[in-house]
Amino acid sequence: MSNHLELNAEQLASLNQALDDLEQELLSLLSATESGAKPVKLKDNQGRLSRMDELHNQSILVANRNVAENRLKAVRRAKKRFAEDIYGYCDECDEPVAYQRLLAYPDASRCIECQSEVER
Ligand SMILES: [Zn+2]
Repeated sequence: MSNHLELNAEQLASLNQALDDLEQELLSLLSATESGAKPVKLKDNQGRLSRMDELHNQSILVANRNVAENRLKAVRRAKKRFAEDIYGYCDECDEPVAYQRLLAYPDASRCIECQSEVER
């Protein structure tokens, strides 16, 4: 991290901490929802409507878990970039990503300009 020109040691340390926190948060969310993602069993005395409710709730839960899993992958990629001393630079244009953006999204791999290109 010694040759990192854009972020100082203090900023890098707090972003590193933010990545760790985010990883822990996602891991606990995933483990807390693990049992809910298993196939819904048909219970005795269960009406069709309540079963449909349950399936619907489960599909939301599964979708949320997918989002969390993808975010976790992004966080781990960011941690890898950290280890390789390339954290904080845009994947697309190699320009430094703004510190304010990294504070909001420590796993961001693109600068705001490139990200808006992708999302267009
Ligand atoms: Zn860029």
